[in-house]
Amino acid sequence: MIVMKFGGTSVESAAAIERLAGIVRARIAEQPIVVVSAMGKTTNRLLEAADLAVAGRREEALEKVEALRAFHHAEGDVFGAAELIEEHFRELTELVRGLAILGELTPRSVDAISGFGERISSRIVALALQARHVDSRAVIVTDERHTLAVPLYAETNVRLAAIEWGEISVMGGFIGSTRAGVTSTLGRGGSDFTASIVGAGVGAKQIEIWTDVDGMLTCDPTVLPGGRRVKSLSFAEAAELAYFGAKVLHPSTVVPAIEKNIPVYILNSRRPEASGTKITAEGPVTKSVAKSISCKKSITLVNIQSTRMLMAHGFLRRIFEVFDRHETSVDMIATSEVSVSLTIDNVAKIETIAGELREFSEVDIEQDKSIVCLVGDNLRWQPGVAHRVFRALDPVNVRMISQGASLRNLSVVVAQSDLRNAVERLHKEFFTDVDPEVFE
Ligand code: ASP
Ligand code: MG
Repeated sequence: MIVMKFGGTSVESAAAIERLAGIVRARIAEQPIVVVSAMGKTTNRLLEAADLAVAGRREEALEKVEALRAFHHAEGDVFGAAELIEEHFRELTELVRGLAILGELTPRSVDAISGFGERISSRIVALALQARHVDSRAVIVTDERHTLAVPLYAETNVRLAAIEWGEISVMGGFIGSTRAGVTSTLGRGGSDFTASIVGAGVGAKQIEIWTDVDGMLTCDPTVLPGGRRVKSLSFAEAAELAYFGAKVLHPSTVVPAIEKNIPVYILNSRRPEASGTKITAEGPVTKSVAKSISCKKSITLVNIQSTRMLMAHGFLRRIFEVFDRHETSVDMIATSEVSVSLTIDNVAKIETIAGELREFSEVDIEQDKSIVCLVGDNLRWQPGVAHRVFRALDPVNVRMISQGASLRNLSVVVAQSDLRNAVERLHKEFFTDVDPEVFE
């Protein structure tokens, strides 16, 4: 068995669903379990409708639902889905009316509404494939933390084992239900997680995440086009890349698969012939130092100098306590005896944070920075990597450096205006002469 997960863009239209059907049918011998996201941006639209409804903007909320209904008919009717689309939208409309009356949105009602995208898309895709539809709400059992529910693996696996999988089966990603049978969701982007839970539960040979890119690249194409494709990387590398902005896959969602040693592939539904990126627990054996360069733009650098608390213990604790209280997460940190530099992404509370920090330190804030992060398992073993990084970056002003505790990444902070130059220089240094087994 294999699990094939298709994201929102891979089911966004009748044409996309036809493409999906072609890809899946070619694999029928492997008994695919197809996991699909909601069509296009449906989940966002559903949540907008819910927000409008409880804000007393009932008509606008119902207009959103109408627009979604028209969209699903336009793309889904060709597969014979008109009737089921109607049924689902009747229920959805009732729900939105109810929310407008209540004027209150609990996490449980958020899940009731946001789950519609996958409920409908999975039924449409099952029709398109003339395949068996498995209702994820009858299979994926979760706790009651609505909107970010955690799967109860033991019970889920029992239910997965009880299913007689047909030649092809289709399930909605993202959704499940609590023991009491109330619809829950696994968090935004949760369809990858569903694929991994199902794959691990049935002991699939591999899990395929079909998306709209050719897999992981050696650099962010929006910063520097022309990167190479990374054919194979370890789970730890994928995790480092995702942390600093590579949007292809959230690695925590593939943990169940990696724990069972099931390889996860990232593939392009627009170019199914491309071999994509393979993620495995150990990664490939290679001499290549780095696997990829990731970037995070629009970063703010906060430099904090201790004044009164010069070298006093508790200085760091006090600093982080301030960030913590204002729910602002810190990405990179570098410290010296009397100063701390750190980067943050979310600047919503920066004024308040700076004010509180100034009660015991001097604070200087630098905006429009970027983090550039070189990632690779072999960074740990190869001497001289830092030297190569700094030589390559020579004319670029590096504001901060940090090597992650995992030793798998080496990150630098540069001005946003230097970002492309920095990436280009590092890319030339580390990805000019590479192992053809691992890079294309
Ligand atoms: N449809 C859900 C979302 O947009 C889940 C997913 O696409 O993975 O977050
Ligand atoms: Mg997605």
